[in-house]
Amino acid sequence: MAAFSIRAGRFARLIAVPAMLGVCAVAALVGGLLVWAGQEADEVAVDRQVALATLVASNLRETIAHNQESVTVWDDAVTAVRQASSAEWIDYNLGSWMHTYFGHDGAYVLDPANAPIYQFSTHSDDRPYADVEEVAKPLVASLRQRLLSGDESGVSDRILSLGEADIGVVAGRPALVSIKPIVSDTGEIEQTAGTEYLHVAVRFLDSDFVAALSRDYQFEDLRFAWEPSSERSETNLPIVSSSGDTIGYFVWQPYRPGAAVVSRIAPAATAALAMMLGLVGGLLFLLDRRSHRLAERDARMKHLAHHDSLTELPNRALFHDRLDAALNQSAGELVAVLYLDLDHFKQVNDTLGHPAGDAVIIEFGNRLSGLIRSTDTLSRLGGDEFTVVIPALRHVEDVELLCDRIIDTIRQPFDIEGHQVFIGVTIGVAIAPRDGDTRIELCRKADIALYHAKTSGRSRYAMFGAEMGAILQARRDIERDLRAALARSDQLEVHYQPLLNAATQRIVGVEALLRWRHPANGWISPDVFIPIAEETGQIEAIGDFVLREACNAAKLWPSLSVAVNVSAIELRSPAFATKVAALLLETEIDPRRIELELTESALTDPNGIGDQNVKALRALGVRIALDDFGTGFSSLGRLQQLEVDRIKIDRSFVSGFGRLNGDEAIVQAIIELAKARGLRTTAEGVETVEQGTHLRSIGCDDLQGFLYSRPVTPSEITALLARGSSLVKQA
Ligand code: C2E
Ligand code: CA
Ligand code: CA
Repeated sequence: MAAFSIRAGRFARLIAVPAMLGVCAVAALVGGLLVWAGQEADEVAVDRQVALATLVASNLRETIAHNQESVTVWDDAVTAVRQASSAEWIDYNLGSWMHTYFGHDGAYVLDPANAPIYQFSTHSDDRPYADVEEVAKPLVASLRQRLLSGDESGVSDRILSLGEADIGVVAGRPALVSIKPIVSDTGEIEQTAGTEYLHVAVRFLDSDFVAALSRDYQFEDLRFAWEPSSERSETNLPIVSSSGDTIGYFVWQPYRPGAAVVSRIAPAATAALAMMLGLVGGLLFLLDRRSHRLAERDARMKHLAHHDSLTELPNRALFHDRLDAALNQSAGELVAVLYLDLDHFKQVNDTLGHPAGDAVIIEFGNRLSGLIRSTDTLSRLGGDEFTVVIPALRHVEDVELLCDRIIDTIRQPFDIEGHQVFIGVTIGVAIAPRDGDTRIELCRKADIALYHAKTSGRSRYAMFGAEMGAILQARRDIERDLRAALARSDQLEVHYQPLLNAATQRIVGVEALLRWRHPANGWISPDVFIPIAEETGQIEAIGDFVLREACNAAKLWPSLSVAVNVSAIELRSPAFATKVAALLLETEIDPRRIELELTESALTDPNGIGDQNVKALRALGVRIALDDFGTGFSSLGRLQQLEVDRIKIDRSFVSGFGRLNGDEAIVQAIIELAKARGLRTTAEGVETVEQGTHLRSIGCDDLQGFLYSRPVTPSEITALLARGSSLVKQA
């Protein structure tokens, strides 16, 4: 979970947030451009409206002047204004008509002395010209001046007479005031310059004018205001008199096409952005999930590639990596490689089945894990092969201690599916830089050491030594020389080791043990040459030889039972029982005096031939002893089913007495179980008085060991028997 949130945080930081920000940035850019373009368009539009309004305003002057000229440049008007009697005509043509027809708000006629002789106004009934006068006065003065001076500038085909106009305040309202002289259109009426009657037209710029303007030119909300509007959305066009005074303002809501477009696009654009964010978000989510799953699968594959699926321990590949790393980083320190091999693991599988075998492997791994440091690497190479890499090792003795502890720990029985199973382990050790400094060299030498340890008896360890190569050669020599020895009669001898009854302390039997006197090398231990004989197909010949010797010797000691070791390979021969029976018949030995010592591995013959041999021999009266019980593969639980008469407790247990976590308890359990089944027990390897005393006290039946006698020649046995009970040693 923590790993997930770290990863999620990383994903958000490295991909999701930048991607989303990218989308937003693009959206902001596009949106910004859109708004900018809209504003630009709006500005252009507003400018055009202002220009239009300005034009309309300036046209107004011309329009009103033009309207005036339709009556002021007219002989009839000149005549009429000079006659006081024509008031009605004046009102109709120069006043109300101008209002009805052109919408003028005021019309005045001034006499040569600038006094109003006619007044028309829409806003006032009495003295209305007074309202206009302030604005009109300077215009009148200027016009009279121009008329007097004969200034004809501005007069054209379209503008028939001089005129003055300005914007000002009339009766509190903004107004255009335009003044035209009333002149003859034909030129037939004599007029003295400066004495012309003047026509004053007034057009208010608020109210209906503004309404008409708004309607005709589509100015929205157009109005007149004395002060500029502070509304951002409104535009102010100042109305300025010719003297430069700002009279007031036209205010309107300019048409803003940009804003309109933007506001119309905005919802769609927002929706598009939301969709894009959603889409990108969705894609990112899918991407994240996919990469998450890929990462998970990757991690799983990596784990599988480097770990054993049964024990979850590192596998061979990871072992290689760790060893390489340890060697690279050793900086002169020692690096040890241990090769470990379970003794007789195959028998576990054969007798208890593969699930039990798996359980043993797992338990084995667990026990080893408990013994090593966290910096050490325990790996399973496959089957029952394990390795340990120990980097930064201080002393070689530390490895020896570790090996001792491993062997001790593994010797404790395994509880597998209700069975008490004994499993031994054999270890080969190579140490860098002493034995080599490359992985390949170290592995090869650890393997040689393991092989060496196995061939010199299991449940032990061996440090690689330079002599081991030589030992391999020696094995080949032994094989050859053993063949030669079997072909003649002067090198192989059978010695006998007495077995004492623990209670009576008397010799009750002997065990036949083969001796080989090599012509060049002297005595060679059966521990060395028996395994070679088994490997090289000479064990049957050896077995035949020992059994025949033993039967002959048995005749010498009628009171003793004679035990003979039988290799598993011999027992698996279908003819074995018949062969033994024939020999007993031939040598006339009572089968009940012969005890065959078998290891449990010999009794776990998957083909069942071993069992058949054992059954047949027991039917004859031959007794069967289970040798080396407690080493290699032994199962207390299976004692119930095994066709045996005796159990020989391995000497490694006896030598374990008195140690911390000593083996007394285990031996006691074995003896009790054997008793419950009616089996006799023999303890091997009794070397001290204390061991003998203890074994007797816990009910062991028979004792065997150097304490009483080493294996000796038949004549020495005869001599011992003659001396009676002189073997007895007591604490
Ligand atoms: P094993 O059957 O367990 O024989 C007992 C071994 O323990 C003998 O070793 C014996 O000398 C040794 N021993 C007896 N008492 C003591 C003691 O107090 N302390 C110590 N340290 N050792 C003691 P040996 O004679 O060297 O034989 C070794 C093994 O070789 C035997 O172990 C047996 O497995 C095998 N072997 C010997 N002779 C024969 C044979 O004729 N046929 C077969 N198949 N195997 C044989
Ligand atoms: Ca034996
Ligand atoms: Ca033994």
